[in-house]
Parts: sequence; C-alpha cells; structure tokens
Amino acid sequence: MPAAPATRKAFTTLSVEHASTVSRVAAELRRAVFEGELESGTPLREIALAESLGVSRPTVREALTVLVAEGLATREPNRGVSVATPRAESVRDVCRARWVLEGAGVQAWESADAVRRQRVRDTLDSYTAAVRGGEASYEELNERHLSFHVSLVELTGSPRLVQMAEALMDELKLALAQVDRLNRNAHDEAESHEGLVELLEAGRLEGPDGAHEFLRKHIEDAEVEIIEALRLE
Ligand SMILES: [Zn+2]
Repeated sequence: MPAAPATRKAFTTLSVEHASTVSRVAAELRRAVFEGELESGTPLREIALAESLGVSRPTVREALTVLVAEGLATREPNRGVSVATPRAESVRDVCRARWVLEGAGVQAWESADAVRRQRVRDTLDSYTAAVRGGEASYEELNERHLSFHVSLVELTGSPRLVQMAEALMDELKLALAQVDRLNRNAHDEAESHEGLVELLEAGRLEGPDGAHEFLRKHIEDAEVEIIEALRLE
C-alpha cells in the first residue's frame, strides 16, 4: 500500500480495504492448503484464525466463504468449516478428462506451430529446474508441473480446451498438496516428463512406445498415486 499512514488510517473502514484484507486472508489459507500445512479435515475455526492472523472474525468468515466456493473447504451444519477432502470419484474423473485434453494436445504436436512447441520445452525446463534446484515450495512445484500439462493442451490451439484444462488442474491442486504432505517426493517426476518430450521431438507419437501411450500411463500413474496415498477408496 503506497498511501501515507494518515491517509490510510482515515480510509480503514472503506470496503475496498476490507475486501483486500479478505482476499489476503483467503490467499494465506490457500497457500497453507496447497503447501500441505493444513490437511484435509482440519477445522478452520474463526476465532483461532482471527487471533493468529490479527484480523476480525467477519473477515475470516468471508475468506472462508471464498475457500468453500473454490472447493478447498467444506461447510457442514453444526461443524463449521474444514479443509476439503478430495473424493476418489472426482480424482478419477479429472484424470479421465485430462487424458482427453492432453492426449489431443500430444496428437497435435506435428501440426502445432513453433511457438506452442517451444512453450512445451520451456514449461518442462521451468519445472525440472525447480525440482533439481531443490528450493521451490511444494505449491510452486505443483504449479510448474501442472503448467507443463496445460502446455500440452495448448498444442491444440484451442483457447477453450486450454481453459478447461486449467479448471481441471485447479481441481487437482488440493489432492496434490495432500499427496505431497504424505509423500514428500511425489512431485519429483521430472524424468518422466523429459521422456515424454523426447518422444515428441522424435516424432514418435503413436504405438505402444509412443508419446500418446506414454502420456496415458503418466496420467494413470498420477491417478493411482493420489488415490492410494490419500486412501480414498
Ligand atoms: Zn506430470
């Protein structure tokens, strides 16, 4: 906030100020969920959160409403709000939908323009550099990992398909954060991604050893890993 202290004080009751506090609280809760600091089922109690974050209870209540709307938290009668638990059915369906979108991207590799192909290489580099650097947060690693998968869908050249892929990745973030909490190297799949891009570069798309099949296994492995790690059955 660049405003001088006196000015800022005079405006503290304005709704924009309040809205920005709500979004900061929501952002901090989101970060803690995506970092695996708050596990599924953890109660998000208004009073305790208001005290530790130094904000009012109504602010916390509004921030919690935002998280509930995003599917990161659930509100139950008489039990209040708690961190959401991913459902096996949803994880499977997200992975099925990912396969349709990302598989279409892989099949479009040959006809995709140079910029889109380069984007796949760049997102791969950004992810593997973060994995090997060893300093990125889990949230950051998951972001970069999922960006790589979105870049595959970008090969289709369809903004609508890309938008769908981004929505699917948002749904997966909660589950991935929980997997990271249990299995602190779950994100480390850099080599598998490099293998996929090598197949693309070599133009080996179809067949049992092709990129399309490689991607199918990669997504299936992710699905099994999430469901097993979280004991969702
Ligand atoms: Zn992956």
